[in-house]
Amino acid sequence: MSPDAVGRDEDFQKLFPNEYMVIRMKHTKGKRNRVRSHHALRATHYAVCGHCGKEVLPHVMCQNCGYYAGRQVVDVLAKLDKKERKKKEKELHEHEEEAADKGKELSAEELSHK
Ligand SMILES: [Zn+2]
Repeated sequence: MSPDAVGRDEDFQKLFPNEYMVIRMKHTKGKRNRVRSHHALRATHYAVCGHCGKEVLPHVMCQNCGYYAGRQVVDVLAKLDKKERKKKEKELHEHEEEAADKGKELSAEELSHK
């Protein structure tokens, strides 16, 4: 390379500091597509709360009733005021009754089928 060419090269690097990087890091379309083949998002899977029956993230306390692994971890009623607490208590109690009724019905049906 002539000294003149080296000078131009330095100017080019000053103007476009990233241009050389692009050439070195260039990947083929196949490489790009192989990498992107693992970028798809999956749908979130939910478990059902054993206490109130709402959808919950697995291995996470239920945000609705504060139960985890069959026991109460957080008192969800503690921070609510009187009116909201009454409403929430009623809601949670309804779920408990529904769950109990369903359990009875299912066992009766199962017995009749068998
Ligand atoms: Zn729950």
